[in-house]
Amino acid sequence: MSLERTRPPHGGHGERGITVLLRRMHDVVAGEATAQERLDRLTSVIASHVVADVCSIYLRRPDDKLELYSTEGLNREAVHKTLMNWGEGLVGVVAATQKPLVTAEAPMHPAFVYKAETGEDPLHSFLGVPLIRSGKALGVLTLQNKAIRRYTDEEVEAAQAVALLLAEVAASGELLGKEETAAVGEMLHRPDRLTGVGVVAGVAKGRVAFHEAATPRHKVFAQDVAREAQRLEDGLQSLRKSVDDMLADESLAGVSRDVLEAYRLFAYDRGWKDRLRTAVFSGLTAESAVEQVKNENRARLMQARDPYLRERLHDLDDLAHRLLRHLAGNGVEHPRELPDEAVVVARMMGPADLLEYDRTKLKGLVLVEASATSHVAIVARALEIPLVAGVDDVLERVYENDEIIVDGDAGDVHVRPAQDIRDSYREKRELQSVRQAEFAKERDLPSVTKDGVEIDIHMNAGLALDMPHLHTTGARGVGLFRTELQFLIGPQLPRAEAQERLYKEVLERADGKPVVFRTADLGGDKSAAYMKRGAEGNPAMGWRGLRMAIDRPGIIRPQIRALLSASAGRELSIMFPMVTLAKELDAARALLDREVQRRKDAGRPLPTSIRVGAMIETPAAVWRMEEIASRVDFLSVGGNDLAQFYFAADRESELTQRRYDPIDPGFLSFLGLIVQKASASGTPLSYCGEQAADLLMAAALIGLGVRRFSIPATSVGPFRRMVRSIEAGAVSSWFETRVTRGGEGMRADLIAHLRQGGVELSPQK
Ligand code: PEP
Ligand code: MG
Repeated sequence: MSLERTRPPHGGHGERGITVLLRRMHDVVAGEATAQERLDRLTSVIASHVVADVCSIYLRRPDDKLELYSTEGLNREAVHKTLMNWGEGLVGVVAATQKPLVTAEAPMHPAFVYKAETGEDPLHSFLGVPLIRSGKALGVLTLQNKAIRRYTDEEVEAAQAVALLLAEVAASGELLGKEETAAVGEMLHRPDRLTGVGVVAGVAKGRVAFHEAATPRHKVFAQDVAREAQRLEDGLQSLRKSVDDMLADESLAGVSRDVLEAYRLFAYDRGWKDRLRTAVFSGLTAESAVEQVKNENRARLMQARDPYLRERLHDLDDLAHRLLRHLAGNGVEHPRELPDEAVVVARMMGPADLLEYDRTKLKGLVLVEASATSHVAIVARALEIPLVAGVDDVLERVYENDEIIVDGDAGDVHVRPAQDIRDSYREKRELQSVRQAEFAKERDLPSVTKDGVEIDIHMNAGLALDMPHLHTTGARGVGLFRTELQFLIGPQLPRAEAQERLYKEVLERADGKPVVFRTADLGGDKSAAYMKRGAEGNPAMGWRGLRMAIDRPGIIRPQIRALLSASAGRELSIMFPMVTLAKELDAARALLDREVQRRKDAGRPLPTSIRVGAMIETPAAVWRMEEIASRVDFLSVGGNDLAQFYFAADRESELTQRRYDPIDPGFLSFLGLIVQKASASGTPLSYCGEQAADLLMAAALIGLGVRRFSIPATSVGPFRRMVRSIEAGAVSSWFETRVTRGGEGMRADLIAHLRQGGVELSPQK
């Protein structure tokens, strides 16, 4: 795809295109003048360029009133006198909605307010666009004409581009006086509240650290155009080289190959370069040229219907950010050094990226894209790092080092919080520790329902540092130890000795409690920097888990040896992930048997017994569960993957996860079938999907007959309390009627039913 096709048509002005306007704006800003003179010249330049009878700039004051700062066409006496309240009049509406407003008959518009001192009586057509910076409206740019006409989409786009630039100039101090610039700065740094979805519960406070280093501050207009052009050239060269290097070294963490291919395409795109150069020759600094072209692409691609084109927006944005960093003289450094109490903010992140950070400093996470069952969320949960996702504009609204509070319970993010918010969160955090202490006190209470059904609660783990939770929570054991996390942390495949050391440590720390080791479930998004893998269109359904293990025994064999050796003299529970067909299990078992035989032949000590388990994570495995059950000692439902394949909905995507609630009559009856089949074959069954951390889902599963769970450590306390307050028989009977009825709203019905029965459902992610 050529970038040329994505260029907003600023046509209609022909030779008078936006570049000419930018050049004129540059001349005004660079010239010697007072701040007011500069503004007045700008309004006049814009008015004459777009052939408007009136062009005015309103700026937002610290008291949120919008003050007429400059005009071409209205009465000059009105400047600094005309004030509009926030939301008042057309100007106030533009500021409050942060959206352009176009009307051919302004006086007929319901929001129109007449201000006599401006002398705007003969004006009919109105176009207002907000001056937006960091997600905040700093003012409004208006264009008005006497003639009744409707401004075209191209004119609105061009006005938005000018407004963006004006906002940037206002914030950079190149346009306004000292006092006004300070007021703008204050406005940009006001407390802000952003909302998303709470993915990992808990509250964290710290300073913002961008996963991708932030764009450095820079001037908007250049003094020396030739020098800027050279800087742009150098920046582009260095960007291209870095993309080439990344492609040569396929293993770069976190960025998949197809994304890199797209980057290379864009980095070498002539159209992109030409437009950057044109912007620089119109007087912008290289950095501003990058921003300008980025915003143009954004305006165009946001409207594109084609999801492929919209998706490219991320790539283009990211490439623009990389170019900005190259212009600042620093490429991409990973992992970043964090401040002492850091909240990392990013568009998206893989589990390996997260594990690379210093865990003693990382307190919270805010992501644009991540879902509750994504692997980054699972790792964050294991590390007890509160996570809010789905905060679409977080990257534009926060600055590096801003103070920030992440509320993973409510899904809120408070940026630069005011004192009262800080106080209330301090109290909330204190309350949280009180609650945790209460749960800790209950850790030895039996997890038995009111009608006497025993529920076995185990916890999920993946790192040695998870193990102390086994004792603080009172979990019966580790029902799922995700061994792949060790593979994701280091710079290379962990050696068999290192694996053995970890497994031994885990068993020792478990102190006799059972641990189920799941063999490395690699692939999909769980791919480490050193794993050279070809691109796959659908990695979640790709070459992962057991498939990879069987095809490349070079990874699983040393792991099996490490497991056998670490559990010599004890029981070993080993579980295989992503089983699809029974024959895959046979192949895995054969590998295990061979290693056991080798140890026997070598006269080395063996585990006292070996229990083999299979994860039920694919509909194919459910359909033929009898065949799988007959080959193993236990089964465990991987509900995260199973739901992904049942609903055909990517577990990593917040958008699809929002759409399909696992508390759904269809999915629950599908799970009910698993329970029946397991019981018919006499094979013990557990449920280890993250969804069971949701107490409602857990209650539903108990109703379906699941008796053993493995859940995140943080959920064990609330889970046990829920178990002790529920009647398994009553939920089962309710289910029998409700599941067959089908239909919408099962979650709400279930809440009502459980509340009526006095079940404890304290919130927990
Ligand atoms: C699952 O899929 O539910 C599961 C427990 O495994 P993972 O989340 O590690 O894929
Ligand atoms: Mg899984």
